[in-house]
Amino acid sequence: MSYTYDQQTLLEHYVKKILAAPVYDLAVRTPLQAAPALSEALGNRILLKREDLQPTFSFKIRGAYNKLVQLSEEQKARGVITASAGNHAQGVALAARELGIAATIVMPATTPELKVLGVRSRGAEALLHGESFPFALAHALQLAEQSGRTFVSPFDDPEVIAGQGTVAMEILRQHQGSLDAIFIPVGGGGLIAGIAAYVKYLRPEVRIIGVESEHSACLKAALEADQRVVLPSVGTFADGVAVAQIGAFGFEVCRFCVDEVITVSNDDLCAAIKNIYDDTRSITEPSGALAVAGIKQYVARTGVREQTFVAIDSGANINFDSLRHVAERAAVCSVSA
Ligand SMILES: *Cc1c(COP(=O)(O)O)cnc(C)c1O
Repeated sequence: MSYTYDQQTLLEHYVKKILAAPVYDLAVRTPLQAAPALSEALGNRILLKREDLQPTFSFKIRGAYNKLVQLSEEQKARGVITASAGNHAQGVALAARELGIAATIVMPATTPELKVLGVRSRGAEALLHGESFPFALAHALQLAEQSGRTFVSPFDDPEVIAGQGTVAMEILRQHQGSLDAIFIPVGGGGLIAGIAAYVKYLRPEVRIIGVESEHSACLKAALEADQRVVLPSVGTFADGVAVAQIGAFGFEVCRFCVDEVITVSNDDLCAAIKNIYDDTRSITEPSGALAVAGIKQYVARTGVREQTFVAIDSGANINFDSLRHVAERAAVCSVSA
């Protein structure tokens, strides 16, 4: 694959931001861990990037901290506001506390209680508003305008994308052997854009594969239409990726850096949560299991063997009560596991 001068310049701009992102004041370098049972079952080598082990149990702390730390002193003094289905909210709350910035977070009324409490316990103000992300977002933007606080997007911001891109920097340092593809969960596209920009600049032969819930496949829809589209409705089982429109900054990268997008069902996610548990004894949230579900579908469809795949295990914020449902569905689907 070869890129135009403008595309190469865009990637280089992100690579520089990623290399300079001071995320390790708060985020940790997470393990890239072998998944032996899954590898055996699929006939390919599967490595899990354990972003569920971050301080807020998802990678969002990277982008949030990178954005907040770069605000001017005046912006910091006025405070920040954001809208989030949950994990970004916790990232912003923790980063804001660390930097002494006041934070208000608008969350959809459907947000799991665990995520609401996670925000409040970190000293931020949580406002529950609207039945899904777009309503919460509209409210947050309005409040930002009225109050002069800086709005911090969960995904549609170059500093947030660069913070998330530090995941790719770690992967390429942790695994220097052959690597065929990285599977990345997609909500608003900040994570995949940051990873794709870094990887395509340095190792363009590595395939970048986005994985979406079939109930919020906004990147797939945008790539097909060759423009960002708004989905008429969005399912919230995978609440971390329940976004109706891919971000503008992310799409600018994704339109030439994403090799393929796979969509998976809620049952596929339940089965993948079990696969991850079997190999790690850790529970992920539905969005966190997207990449593994995507690898399973990819291998079943293409029949590839002996390749090396990385799955981003992106988060672990699941209400304990939901585990009953997940376990039941995983049992029904284990024939395909
Ligand atoms: C936010 C999130 C994603 C998707 O990231 P985007 O940058 O919105 O595409 C995936 N998994 C989890 C657990 C998340 O919190």
